[in-house]
Amino acid sequence: MLTDRQEKILEWLQAHRTASIEEIRAQFAVSTATAYRDARALVQSGMALKTNGGVRLAPPNDSAHAESKCFFCGAPVNDRAPFVIQLQDGSQRRACCPHCGLMSISHPKVATALASDFLYGRMVNARQATFLFGSSVDLCCAPSVLCFASEADAQRFQAGFGGQVFNLEQAVVELNRVMSLPGPSQAA
Ligand SMILES: [Zn+2]
Ligand SMILES: [Zn+2]
Repeated sequence: MLTDRQEKILEWLQAHRTASIEEIRAQFAVSTATAYRDARALVQSGMALKTNGGVRLAPPNDSAHAESKCFFCGAPVNDRAPFVIQLQDGSQRRACCPHCGLMSISHPKVATALASDFLYGRMVNARQATFLFGSSVDLCCAPSVLCFASEADAQRFQAGFGGQVFNLEQAVVELNRVMSLPGPSQAA
């Protein structure tokens, strides 16, 4: 059983892959002893492996859970922000969050994409959604990308958590720029 904070550390690990004891201490405002205890609990849970001075995310080894892993980066699909890409052949790919979804959406095989509204959890058409890019909400992959059905919701969220409000097209351009990719990435 992980505590709430240990689960948050795990989420952080999913975004950053590794965490040193010092990073855990600083990110989660705990003592060094507590950071060690949390790291040990994550290792014991099998979700993380011990490294020199910290922990790293355990590699995915359970193929039974393949369905719930992001096709793009392999991270577990985030319950708060799933992103589903429908390909022209009718098959679906699930991304862990809008970040990975947007990294793939320009691929010519992609027919439609659904993203989950960050506030209400409804699946919405990604092409009509508004995206909050690079806010301080550390959801999953970095930079974080949140999806909102309503532009007003995105702007309200931006007022509290920073970042930039984009439509889909702008968000894809910005993401590709930040991730320094020469063009649209592979969807499959
Ligand atoms: Zn991903
Ligand atoms: Zn992600």
